[in-house]
Amino acid sequence: MSKLIVLSNRVNLPTPEGHSAGGLAVALQDALSDIGGVWLGWNGEQIQNQQDQYFNCTEINGIEYITCPLTEQQYQQYYSGFANTTLWPAMHDRDDLITFDPQEFQTYQNVNRLFAEQLHRIAGEDDMIWVHDYHFLSVAKYCRDLGMKNRFGFFLHIPFADLNIWKQLPIAQQLIEHLSAFDVVGLQTEHDQQNCLDVMQYYVGGQIDADILKLSERELKVQCYPIGVNPDLIQQVAQTHDNELENSVFKFDELSNQKTIIAVDRIDYSKGLIERFNAYAEFLNQHPEYHELVTDLQIACPCRMEIPAYEDLYKRVQAKVNSINLKYAQNEWAPINCVHETIQHAQLMQIYRRADICWVNSLRDGMNLVAKEFIAAQDPSDPGVLILSKYAGSAEQMPEAIIVDPESKSSMISALKQAIQMNKAERIERYRHLIRGIKHFDINDWRNAFLKDLKHFNSSLLQRTPIKQATVYRPLVT
Ligand code: UDP
Repeated sequence: MSKLIVLSNRVNLPTPEGHSAGGLAVALQDALSDIGGVWLGWNGEQIQNQQDQYFNCTEINGIEYITCPLTEQQYQQYYSGFANTTLWPAMHDRDDLITFDPQEFQTYQNVNRLFAEQLHRIAGEDDMIWVHDYHFLSVAKYCRDLGMKNRFGFFLHIPFADLNIWKQLPIAQQLIEHLSAFDVVGLQTEHDQQNCLDVMQYYVGGQIDADILKLSERELKVQCYPIGVNPDLIQQVAQTHDNELENSVFKFDELSNQKTIIAVDRIDYSKGLIERFNAYAEFLNQHPEYHELVTDLQIACPCRMEIPAYEDLYKRVQAKVNSINLKYAQNEWAPINCVHETIQHAQLMQIYRRADICWVNSLRDGMNLVAKEFIAAQDPSDPGVLILSKYAGSAEQMPEAIIVDPESKSSMISALKQAIQMNKAERIERYRHLIRGIKHFDINDWRNAFLKDLKHFNSSLLQRTPIKQATVYRPLVT
């Protein structure tokens, strides 16, 4: 029996409470328990010495979770360094923030090799391997070097930059050659798919034929699989626990005369937080008639604070919120209610349901699941309105949202006015289209579509014939 092996930077162990409405972790766990499998990755811990770096294996509900710590040096150079200060800004079109350090790149390669060696130890020869995200662009290459002929799939959760950006990276040639060692490369949007095909053709040659890159020796499938949510589960969670909202970070009972805007973002420069606050402030400036009638509820979760650009943005967000509240607050009303804690997923679904408007303002975003979750959580008979940046991946599949240009204040101000004033009939009409799209391709369709292609696509690399023998488990510990 073949099994599925998932590799991702962080491994999500199931929580004691069971399934949350949280999409990706559950979808991958479901895939692993349906097919039988292993989830491999970093355990979230840091250690000082490499000689203490061991892989540990835990089995929960039939899935093996194999994890190891990173050394402090690996964390700084592979994770905070090359992954998050070279690749992340590059993929989000922020060439002004890209830094490149050859030592960090070397450590990124070493970590990719470390996980490739572990894959080599644990994989049987007919197992499928599904690698996630920009932390592991090179892993298939090292697995091939070790002689592995398995099917290797890669899914990129963030955008794929265009060629102009890749040309600014001194290691682009090497990384794209490494990426071409996969059989199937999955992207979030058609736009990313086209960028990926163009960039790959530029660096490794070959002919593009629809979603196939034909190289001289083999073929590579480069296809978009837009990640979704679990709309039925979200709907159930959003309505079942309504009474728990009294403990929410936002006091909706005290906001009953307000139009509430919910915004949920990690504090990341790709999310357009400052741009949204500036537009909102200008809206308040131009429309005093809405003072005391609109409240912006912002969940802003700090992340990657060891990276200066993130720490700096965190301070700017706080300063911006304070200055807007200082300028416009009156009586009991503050125009922005901003919290920095991470809200438990189920409670977040209930917050979405109670809010009137959700405003996603990404300057660049792989998909943006908040947009899809907000729609999934709505009351169909009285749904809220989604304002969605044209630069979020989800905008490709959600044209019935109010689409905005997050770099244009006037676009955002008129969108906000339109959302506030939208009548119920139009809200329902837009919602009907949006929810149909979300149900049409949900999180399970996403993983099934990817795995089906990974299973059946023949890259010609191996002149594969189906292999019937039992899976061989190699020893686990490094
Ligand atoms: N999220 C959450 N609690 C929070 C903030 C966010 O559970 O306090 C979840 C949110 O529901 C969504 C994810 O985190 O599933 C954020 O995904 P998205 O694609 O919008 O952005 P990312 O952070 O992955 O760039």
